[in-house]
Amino acid sequence: MTQIPVHERTLDLIGNTPLVRLEGPSKEAGCDIYGKCEFANPGASVKDRAALYIIRDAEARGELKEGGCVVEGTAGNTGIGIALVANALGYKTIIVMPDNQSSEKMATLRALGAELVTVPPTKYADPNHFQHVSRRMAEETEGAIWAGQFDNTANRKAHIEGTAKEIWEQTEGRIDGFTCAAGTGGTIAGVGMGLKEFDENVVIALTDPHGAALYNYYANGELKGEGSSVAEGIGQGRITGNLEGAPIDTQFRISDEEGLGWVARLLREEGLCLGLSSGINVAGAVELGKQLVAEGRENPRVVTILCDTGFRYLSTLYNADWLRSKNLPVFDWLKDSD
Ligand code: PMP
Repeated sequence: MTQIPVHERTLDLIGNTPLVRLEGPSKEAGCDIYGKCEFANPGASVKDRAALYIIRDAEARGELKEGGCVVEGTAGNTGIGIALVANALGYKTIIVMPDNQSSEKMATLRALGAELVTVPPTKYADPNHFQHVSRRMAEETEGAIWAGQFDNTANRKAHIEGTAKEIWEQTEGRIDGFTCAAGTGGTIAGVGMGLKEFDENVVIALTDPHGAALYNYYANGELKGEGSSVAEGIGQGRITGNLEGAPIDTQFRISDEEGLGWVARLLREEGLCLGLSSGINVAGAVELGKQLVAEGRENPRVVTILCDTGFRYLSTLYNADWLRSKNLPVFDWLKDSD
């Protein structure tokens, strides 16, 4: 009989994503590298999981009631997840985002029926930062809750109970290492905690983009960033509530060029169209795989996260003019397009 699931409710489509072996990265690392296909969630990103858990948690605590409203400050994917889950449960959504994010994400949020408020990008200490604006809007709106994905640990719980358990079952307990980048840190902390509960010998590695402060924090205890990155959704400058107690064993720093190299190869050689955070994650997984091979682990297996779909970045990562404007290499097959 078929093992393809049939669901009775659309919300059950969140999670239980497939795991796929990545041929090019596996060859490069000299061991098996697997990607967790989070672009297969209904909102096409890993953040559907956090959205569902945050909303269910607010309901369980009695804060979110029938006809209520969910407010969040987000670079986009969490907002998309919240809008879909809120629609399915009869809540309204208000999303505050910086106005420099991809136009696809803004158009998607509007299309899903969310009320979208854009604000100029500014530093976290500024009261006009999108996260603070969204918190104030939640306080001022009748029947609203503030999702607060950075410090609300319902976010990482989604990965302890969901993503980590799924990876353990999908690999039948044969997993040596896991790595991904951090935005809120919910994914790396939650999957790390969940996998360590199954087997404390699974190596958990943070893969950090340039410009973020966590690589230095885990390497030498100092929250300090160097350089910059155009990757959306990742790159953190503080220890969020979700990152507190994350079991990080080792860390890598990956450039946008290296991440884009994997985005290009996965698309052209394996037919996967991904965003840049996925490319950076895959580059980190290759590093971790090489390290585990060098340490003498026999045929190690490494898992990483394929966070969202590349279709969300047609006007940026897949646009020759945009890439040139950021001094990034243009994909060979886009070189003639203008
Ligand atoms: N990649 C993308 C594209 C994202 O939107 C996010 C969420 N901010 C992440 C990676 C990182 O996930 P997390 O917030 O769980 O650290």
